Amino acid sequence: MTFLRPTLLTLACLLASPGFADDLPSLGDASSAIVSPQQEHQLGRAWLALLRSQVAQLNDPQLKDYVESSVYRLVETSQVNDRRLEFILINSPQLNAFAAPGGIVGVNGGLFLNAQTEGEYASVLAHELAHLSQRHFARGVEAQQRMQVPMMAALLAGIVIAAAGAGDAGIAAIAGTQAAAIQEQRRFSRQNEQEADRIGILNLEKAGYDPRSMPTMFERLARQYRFDAKPPEFLLTHPVTESRIADTRNRAEQAKPGGVEDTMRYQLIRARVQLIYEETPGLGAKRFRAQLDENPKNDVARYGLALAQIKGGQLNEARENLKLLLAKSPNEIIYNLAQVDLDITNNRLPDAQTRVDRMLTQYPGNYPLNSVRVDLLLKQNRAPEAEKALENLLKSRPDDPDVWYMVAETRGLSGNIIGLHQARAEYFALVGDYRQAIQQLDFAKRKAGTNFPLSSRIDARQRELMEQERMIKDMMG
Ligand SMILES: [Zn+2]
Repeated sequence: MTFLRPTLLTLACLLASPGFADDLPSLGDASSAIVSPQQEHQLGRAWLALLRSQVAQLNDPQLKDYVESSVYRLVETSQVNDRRLEFILINSPQLNAFAAPGGIVGVNGGLFLNAQTEGEYASVLAHELAHLSQRHFARGVEAQQRMQVPMMAALLAGIVIAAAGAGDAGIAAIAGTQAAAIQEQRRFSRQNEQEADRIGILNLEKAGYDPRSMPTMFERLARQYRFDAKPPEFLLTHPVTESRIADTRNRAEQAKPGGVEDTMRYQLIRARVQLIYEETPGLGAKRFRAQLDENPKNDVARYGLALAQIKGGQLNEARENLKLLLAKSPNEIIYNLAQVDLDITNNRLPDAQTRVDRMLTQYPGNYPLNSVRVDLLLKQNRAPEAEKALENLLKSRPDDPDVWYMVAETRGLSGNIIGLHQARAEYFALVGDYRQAIQQLDFAKRKAGTNFPLSSRIDARQRELMEQERMIKDMMG
């Protein structure tokens, strides 16, 4: 991830420069120890755009849908007050997850690689949500202000570094010398960690999970990385000490037995993520096949094998495996989407379309199904229908850059040039490229010409984006 270096260096310089104390954002307003929820919300959105411009992301709709629904389920029984969340899935095999002020939830692909059950996955997120609900970030602001460091910038640097992986010595060195590290230390003080564990365990139990998953995961991580000179960033900030394990074990054992430890859905999604980080589809196929040889009833391994075979071009073998899975569970969305994927790869577009339409009658609001439907319509040159489908998708996901990307593509194909520029502007703004976003709206305005209502709407949006850009500049010092 060498492309991160120049920006991080810039960031490091900003953090080190003493000159910006005067125009610190109102974040650390001296009259109040904590940031107001509305300030947090706005800054969080701006900061997310900036983060998106810095790290590679996973845009698999099934993975996004799983993370979003599982986190919302936890949040429902958590102490998080402001439940307007936005998500980012970071394309890194390093173990990490965070819940940042403003309701930004980030999950690395590596969380799925390390958490062997849904309960383990949920225990990391419940812990992170507890940092958010207990305002461990905001409490640090006072201290930050004394050090004249803009908190969000420091936080961003810390997360970009975590995403890049602790293994990158260059980046780690920058982090080590800069305020990001100090910020991280404060947030992850022993007291805050204990509190996040305690509240996280309560949250797990209320959400119907077995909280014993938390100590189980800690124990395994401690064993796994005991002799590792370069443990993942998450373990550097969250050391799993003997006393921490014992403490969480004691607390978790007080919960009533019978909570959920794992789900089939988690394992299927985990197989998707494992395949992303497999060097070749062939290696993935080999690993899933070995699991299947051991236990021919292992449907997760069969699903993983089918996906690896689709990726590797063994389409007939994939078809046979999916046939077995679909015979058992004909309405499982995940299996049906794999079959759709196979049919698209095989250029059997009408078959895929029929399947998606049938599934959508059962699950009309499902994001992955709706997303692949748009893909299919575009592949069959049915742009006007795709555009209509996207208008619907935008209602439920108005701030999803992946959706705006598809909108731009679709409007381009259907000849809606003004709409194309507007959609591109929204996409670029969401991924933190304000210069391009504002430029796209210039193009749109030029095309709109004398259509006054339209050009003044575009103008208003452009002013909003300029304001957001200014806010980000302020935030970064
Ligand atoms: Zn923590």
